[in-house]
Amino acid sequence: MAKTYNPQLGREQPYPYEHREEERDYHWGMVINTNRCINCNTCSFACKSTWTSGEGEEYMWWMNVETEPYGGYPMGWDMKLLSELEEDQTIFEAADADEQVKGYIAQKEAWEYPALGDDQAHGEYPRGDVVESDLENDEYHDIWQFYLPRLCNHCKNPACLAGCPRQAIYKREEDGIVLLDQERCRGYRRCVKACPYHKPMYNPETGITEKPVGCYPRIEEGNVPRCVSSCIGKTRLHGNINRGPDAASPGGNAPGGRSPINYLVHSDEKVALPLYPQFGTQPQVFYMPPYHVPPEFLTQMFTPNTDQKRNDWPGSTYEESVRIVQERVRDPSHHVLGILQLFGATTRLVETYTVKENRVKGWDQNGEKVVDMPIYEDIEVREGEQWTNQP
Ligand code: SF4
Ligand code: SF4
Repeated sequence: MAKTYNPQLGREQPYPYEHREEERDYHWGMVINTNRCINCNTCSFACKSTWTSGEGEEYMWWMNVETEPYGGYPMGWDMKLLSELEEDQTIFEAADADEQVKGYIAQKEAWEYPALGDDQAHGEYPRGDVVESDLENDEYHDIWQFYLPRLCNHCKNPACLAGCPRQAIYKREEDGIVLLDQERCRGYRRCVKACPYHKPMYNPETGITEKPVGCYPRIEEGNVPRCVSSCIGKTRLHGNINRGPDAASPGGNAPGGRSPINYLVHSDEKVALPLYPQFGTQPQVFYMPPYHVPPEFLTQMFTPNTDQKRNDWPGSTYEESVRIVQERVRDPSHHVLGILQLFGATTRLVETYTVKENRVKGWDQNGEKVVDMPIYEDIEVREGEQWTNQP
């Protein structure tokens, strides 16, 4: 098997195909701020009503929202696979001799209750005084939960693509979106088995598998995916994850330099982490972790979770990385606060941006300005008597 360097793991790993991420100017990416998500599932329905229809669509939730730590669709998808991997072993390294990827097909019952575990918190309900988080002193809530929106990660090492014997799955040259050619698919379900995030879904009515499409027709027009534009909580920012600090201006008066999501994920001020990078697929959806949740839990979910820390994340251990990122999310710098204003501010894809004094500005891929807004707004308190509806 070919070797590829995985920066999320800080080491080389096997992957069946040569990949050429370094050469792409553009790659689909997304950042989700979990602290803003309210589990309304508007994103899930926006995706479903746009992309899945007809017989067999019942189980197709390409976008879904889970409550951690108990929710999951399919149930237990993450823990089941993790329990079969040794420490620091990717799904490619753990594969049986006759396969490219270690995986499993979730049974029908596991798909039947998309909302099982919703709003179920972890921990004993406190008796007596309710414990408040005192993060300055590393004290977290005794009882906690958080919402985790899940979608296809348009991975840089897609396991679905590696698992398909017919090469019906491909990664687009222009934007890295991973698509499934339904003409070539014969419904072998190898991608269903291979994807550790369980996003390709087999349609028993058609005998063909379907997988999320990254809203590519919208991306081609310079718009963001529907889960992003419809999000009630303004949790998401979508864009070009490969646009680094040295990138040229896209045109017009737009500045050169990195995209806002590249800053959140790859700058020295990293605030967003990938979901289960230890699988080895290099997922390109990144999460700003909840800051009220104990870091031990988040370490196994958002880091390679090994004793040896190899990548360039902050801190000397992965748990320390999580603590530092949580603190940055809880108390963001002025620059990050500026970028946070871009979340949900426009349906256009923000390619490049500036944060200067009290203003954040964003430009699209044609160099047209699409956002220009203050970071802090003046608050006006009206003079006069206060009225209520009470007599
Ligand atoms: S999340 Fe799954 S379906 Fe999506 S690109 Fe990665 S391996 Fe493929
Ligand atoms: S629409 Fe936004 S706030 Fe609502 S569940 Fe989806 S990600 Fe969360």
